Amino acid sequence: MQIEQHKVVTLNYTLKDDEGNVIDQSQDGSFAYLHGMNNIVPGLEKALSGMAAGQTRAVSVPPEEGYGARDDSRVQAVPRDMFPADSRIEPGMQFHAESSEGQSLVVTVVGSDSDTVTVDGNHPLSGMQLHFDVKVVDVRDATREEIDHGHVHGPEGHHHD
Ligand code: ZN
Repeated sequence: MQIEQHKVVTLNYTLKDDEGNVIDQSQDGSFAYLHGMNNIVPGLEKALSGMAAGQTRAVSVPPEEGYGARDDSRVQAVPRDMFPADSRIEPGMQFHAESSEGQSLVVTVVGSDSDTVTVDGNHPLSGMQLHFDVKVVDVRDATREEIDHGHVHGPEGHHHD
């Protein structure tokens, strides 16, 4: 069975940066996604199309087919008093925030002083070339319910809100 629209794909993958540092990996068959529904970055989804269980591939994905280009306008200084008064704010900490368009996003603290905290709303992997080593572990038909929901359900069925 080949990977195409509405297949559930189980993958082992390793994601590395340009220097070969491992950023993320899943090697135990625990990662599965519904193909063709934008559940993974577009460049990887495109490369996986047509592959079958047991096949491996090295895929390099440019930022525009990955997590997008970096946008410096998403780096903003916000008032310190938007954070709990007793909290220590340190670079690298991440918070959930809401964009001006009302979308929820994760921001990363990049600096702070007594009055302001500088946060970066770019995805941590934006602007990066992504190097995936993938092995297709399993390909199966999605259930009607999975297709309706646009995502994979676990072996024990429906388990989300
Ligand atoms: Zn669901």
